[in-house]
Amino acid sequence: MAGVPERVDVAGRQLACQVCRGTTFVHRTMKLATSGFANSGFNKQADAAVCETCGFVHTFLGGDLTWTRLDRPEHQSP
Ligand SMILES: [Zn+2]
Repeated sequence: MAGVPERVDVAGRQLACQVCRGTTFVHRTMKLATSGFANSGFNKQADAAVCETCGFVHTFLGGDLTWTRLDRPEHQSP
């Protein structure tokens, strides 16, 4: 899956995948057709955390999310 793996904290708690308990996710944003919220001032942009392991999508609307990039040690030759 393309994208930068990140860890996600939701309201101060680390997110773990509901399916596989994985803790690395790829960040996506999406527009939702939230016509029902049209006059509520609700943020129509959703944040989605796509599990890097199994692909399960966790979607948040206006959540208190903190994304932290995980820098993978790939080729650390001097
Ligand atoms: Zn998963």
